[in-house]
Amino acid sequence: MYASAHPSALPPVATASRRDAAILIVDDAPDNLGTLRKMMVQQGYQTFVATSGERALQIARRVHPDLILLDVVMPGMDGFETCRQLKSHAATQRIPVIFMSARTETEDVVAGFDIGAVDYIGKPLRMAEVCARVRTQLQIRSNNENQEEQAERLRTIVNNMAEGLLIIEADGRIQFTNPACDKYLGYQENELAGRSIAELLNPMVAQEYLDYFERYAAAPQTAHNHGTREVIIRHRNGSSVCMDLTLTPMYLRQPLFIGLLHDITHHKQSEDALQRAAMVDPLTMIANRRHFDAFLEKEWQRALRSGLPLSLVVLDVDHFKLYNDTLGHPAGDACLQQVAQAIASHALRPTDLAARYGGEEFVLLFAETDADSAYLLAESIRAHVEALQLPHPRSPTSPWITVSIGVSTILPQQLDSTESLFVAADRAMYVAKESGRNQVQATLPGNAAMDAIKALASR
Ligand code: GH3
Ligand code: MG
Ligand code: MG
Repeated sequence: MYASAHPSALPPVATASRRDAAILIVDDAPDNLGTLRKMMVQQGYQTFVATSGERALQIARRVHPDLILLDVVMPGMDGFETCRQLKSHAATQRIPVIFMSARTETEDVVAGFDIGAVDYIGKPLRMAEVCARVRTQLQIRSNNENQEEQAERLRTIVNNMAEGLLIIEADGRIQFTNPACDKYLGYQENELAGRSIAELLNPMVAQEYLDYFERYAAAPQTAHNHGTREVIIRHRNGSSVCMDLTLTPMYLRQPLFIGLLHDITHHKQSEDALQRAAMVDPLTMIANRRHFDAFLEKEWQRALRSGLPLSLVVLDVDHFKLYNDTLGHPAGDACLQQVAQAIASHALRPTDLAARYGGEEFVLLFAETDADSAYLLAESIRAHVEALQLPHPRSPTSPWITVSIGVSTILPQQLDSTESLFVAADRAMYVAKESGRNQVQATLPGNAAMDAIKALASR
């Protein structure tokens, strides 16, 4: 099957025809032997001769001739028995045998073919005919060897390639999978053969492929290559693997499709890891500013649609410069990590997010949260940080690390911006600093819609 798929894709294989073919001539009559040998040498073949069946077997096993011309009637072991023995040994069974005999009754000829001969020539020999028959058999042998070698090469490639390979029929049935495919998907050899490709894919993707197969089978000339796409394939153990699937149609006696699977799970994992890394603050391992901004934008749009309030909490560590100056920068880092964990433990719902927004400043977003609830949440965070009792020996505010917190709450409207929410929370936070630190302050942001209406009214 492979050899005929794309024979031109592989360079030709060197075969017997490229060197002098070796012919073993077996005949008990020395005259015949001499004449035949001369003819074969003239044709450019290398020759070996034997005058008995026993001797013929010995030579055949040693020199592996490309063809044997075998006399049938010989004293001792006759030609038929010699042929039987040749065919029963692995080393010699594939050597083509041509019988030569004066016994040309139909049953003799048929018996010769039954034993495994490829041809049967009647005696007396017409040399031109012998030469033509020898040439033909050598050509067939050479073609066969060539095809076998091509097939063997393709088998080696298919069995050892890193890509998974599937041969799929037009109804979606899997005809063949290579070892890489079996390994990727967790199947035993031949276990996938006979199953439908639909068992491996999600129903929608499977249907797309089946539709394509059907279209191609109905009109192969008009169909184009399906190309490569990323698909999720079901592993035998139920998990999902991410693969690039390249599909190429191949029309032999029936429409077939060659699927090539390239595992991209690892790429995906590192892609995901990179994406995660880009969203996380490396010191505290909570969300970073970029992630927070994107998250806020999404929640803002959602609040616009839902009409539910959005609360922003801004925290700043009190006298942190002094903390670093007193205990050292590494202690400052460790302190930020503990404060970050305490803060993040208050972002409990999927629509809450805590982030390190810069230096010693943190933010939290609470979606669907009104001003009163946000104030209570902020107060519990403040109390939590204080309760950590992280010693801050020179703080004028407290013996421990403390935070000042500003809260703002908004019901977003089209004319408002996230900016206004931040400004309001920052202002509240500075009020908290000015009012003695270690406390929560809240303000409502200026409402752009109200401002616009007021501006219109005052004209
Ligand atoms: P205030 O109470 O008014 O907020 O005083 P403060 O000292 O906390 O404020 P200021 O903004 O003057 O100082 C912030 C300090 O935070 C200065 C900076 O060195 C420190 N800092 C910022 N990022 C880091 C960090 O990643 N690690 C450490 N150890 N320190 C940091
Ligand atoms: Mg600061
Ligand atoms: Mg500070």
